[in-house]
Parts: sequence; structure tokens; C-alpha cells
Amino acid sequence: MEIETNSPEETYKTGFKMGENAQPGQVYCMKGDLGVGKTVFTQGFAKGMGVDENVNSPTFTILQVYEDGRIPLYHFDVYRISDIDEMDEIGYEEYFYGEGVCLIEWAELIEDILPENVIWIKIEKSMTENFDYRKITIG
Ligand code: ADP
Ligand code: MG
Repeated sequence: MEIETNSPEETYKTGFKMGENAQPGQVYCMKGDLGVGKTVFTQGFAKGMGVDENVNSPTFTILQVYEDGRIPLYHFDVYRISDIDEMDEIGYEEYFYGEGVCLIEWAELIEDILPENVIWIKIEKSMTENFDYRKITIG
């Protein structure tokens, strides 16, 4: 499925709708360049799950846990990971195979340890469209 957005708000809303429908045990894997809108999407997603806390991508924290929504949300940003061992240290399996929902920014960097069934969300800009255009591919 492909969705085109033309503002951060539209990307947020797309995330929101997916967050409303997220089910326990699902793993959402986000990929896309720096500044493309992964965190904007995630903020909408979290809100859609009923999370009221502020969601951002802290530079030196790989995992943020939000327990105040409909079901737990485990937000990973693995951009700064230098070794897959860091995921072991966090005890990632408990989250990936748990009853909450995982959303992983830069998931392609940890492709080797991803579960078999994940939902990919790719966000891209376009050279030919305007500055705020984004193409979101879900599948
Ligand atoms: P990432 O997490 O992928 O590094 P962020 O979500 O932190 O990116 O930042 C995306 C930036 O792009 C924000 O400054 C946002 O305002 C801007 N932006 C412009 N157009 C869009 C759009 N259509 N969707 C999402 N973000 C957009
Ligand atoms: Mg981000």
C-alpha cells in the first residue's frame, strides 16, 4: 500500500490511523533517510495507540517504553547502534516477541535479528515533488 503526504500533519495522521489499529505482538519496521519523517509518523502512531506521553527520538537511548496506551509501545531508534550486541544487552527478544507493539526506526540496520513477520513502513522524499512531499509504502 502506498500513501502520499504533503505535510508533517498528514504523515502524523497516517501514523495515527495505523496506531489505532495496531495489535499486540506486531513489529513495525521503519526505514527512510534522516529527516524524512519517521519520528513524525511514530508520534502519530503512539497517539493513535492512546499514548499521551511525548514521543521523540532521544539520541542516546535505543529504546523508549510507553506503558500508558491501549497496549505497551516499544519505540526503538537504532540509528546509533554500533554492534548488534547492544540489542542483546537491552534484551530485545522480550519486546520483539512480547505482547506489546514494537516500532523500530532504522530497522534495516538490525535486519539480521528481526522476526520473520514484520510490517515495513518506508518513507521517501521525491526529487520531482515539492519539499514537503513524502511517499509512505506499507507492506
Ligand atoms: P526522521 O525521524 O525520519 O529522522 P523526523 O520525523 O524527525 O525525521 O523529521 C521530519 C522533518 O520533516 C520534520 O521537520 C517535519 O516537519 C518535516 N516534514 C516536512 N514534510 C513532511 C511530511 N510530509 N511528512 C513528515 N515530515 C515532514
Ligand atoms: Mg527519528
